[in-house]
Amino acid sequence: MQTDRRRTRIIFTVGPATESEENLTRLIGAGADICRINMAHATHDWTRAVIRRVRACSAKLGREIAIMMDVKGPEIRTGDVEAPIELSPGEVFDFTVKPESAAESGEEVRSVDVNYRNLVNDIHPGDTVLVDNGVIRLEVLEKNQARIRCRVLIPGTLGSRRHINLPGIRVDLPALTEKDKRDLAVGLEEGIDMVALSFVRDKADVQLLRSHLEECGSDIRVIAKIEDQQAVTNLDAIIKAADGLMIARGDLGIECPYEELPIIQRRAVKICLRLGRPVIVATHMLESMIKAPVPTRAEVTDVANAVFEQSDCIMLSGETSIGDYPFDCIEVMDRIARRIELSGGANFADKIKLDSDHAKILRSAVVMADELESAGLLVFTRRGYMARMISALRPRRSPIYAFTNSVPLQRQLMLYWGVEPWFLKLSADPDTTVHAAIQLLKKHGRVKREDKLVVISNQLVGERLIDSVQMRVVD
Ligand code: PEP
Repeated sequence: MQTDRRRTRIIFTVGPATESEENLTRLIGAGADICRINMAHATHDWTRAVIRRVRACSAKLGREIAIMMDVKGPEIRTGDVEAPIELSPGEVFDFTVKPESAAESGEEVRSVDVNYRNLVNDIHPGDTVLVDNGVIRLEVLEKNQARIRCRVLIPGTLGSRRHINLPGIRVDLPALTEKDKRDLAVGLEEGIDMVALSFVRDKADVQLLRSHLEECGSDIRVIAKIEDQQAVTNLDAIIKAADGLMIARGDLGIECPYEELPIIQRRAVKICLRLGRPVIVATHMLESMIKAPVPTRAEVTDVANAVFEQSDCIMLSGETSIGDYPFDCIEVMDRIARRIELSGGANFADKIKLDSDHAKILRSAVVMADELESAGLLVFTRRGYMARMISALRPRRSPIYAFTNSVPLQRQLMLYWGVEPWFLKLSADPDTTVHAAIQLLKKHGRVKREDKLVVISNQLVGERLIDSVQMRVVD
């Protein structure tokens, strides 16, 4: 039995550094599990081309990975600039919401447009404006209906479409913008597997996205990205409403005091594991590797911490979208994850709330597999529930082999800690299905004679199908 496979999933963000067929093939082959498309930077033509390329590379390698579209939600960005603007300390600088009328005023103050017209109503003199992940800091001096005038406190170089944070300010933007809907339409047409919504502030934001997906006839997974204080306040409700959570530490570390970040991460991971929801730890995990071939010691420890907490996924952003060492990043994460998983975990899932008899039967299967030391868990799943639940119970060493007859579900299952999804035609006779699954695992060298398996299946008893947990030995 192969019990040394990595259980923590690796998400990579695709970009110029990795978009080619050759590079995608290398990343998928190296063990990347989910491809993230960041719609802050992607055009629709590019998105379509990349999704098709990922699918083609997966097919060639015989390894299906999932595709996550990350839509930007109520995000504020600066507009395009002809050339980067060097801001100096103390300089007066304008953010324009009506660039035409600001220009007509004849004032000679440098400026950039912002994509949110109502910003002038949400912001007040004395407020802080942070640009480009907090690298540039400005203070609001005064405003009129066309522009917000600021003083530069911390200078920097302002490029095109830079992200703006307004710590502590609730902006009046819809949770799901028209742009998000247009982006999603493309993603759904191309068959994405999950969508991450940026700047989720409460559960209603998640529900809004879900109803939109329902209207579109889609049941893809919904990941809530938490990025500000309001989301932290509403954490429980957001996690319950979503199919998964992304701890978007980039924005979170700007919107909240950074010393709070480790506490927020620990709390979010704990709640997710108690509620049986997958959790993604994102951003700056191997940031220095954008330019360097090896991680810093602090980065190794950060990745190790997320793995020790038993987060489902660890995520790469700039490291793989624009970095010089995208393949090394996958290798580094893979090495750290394997090593730390061997050393044990925080076991937050021990406190998971089980709300049905069915879930308790699944727990008994996991306990049995743990007792049998390295027995594999075999689960057959049409909607994904059983595989998700077994993963949520975090078996100590057992691999989770999940068989499904749906390719979209096979891909969605890449989100879950420890699940190895397999495509299999499920027969009407449960025993035939179990036999076929074991043969498939044998063929791929996952199990061998005498290996023990805990099989969670249905059994035909008379006329009735009943849940069953069995121990089988591979013959
Ligand atoms: C983050 O802020 O950590 C994050 C993942 O969001 P973005 O989409 O801005 O990269």
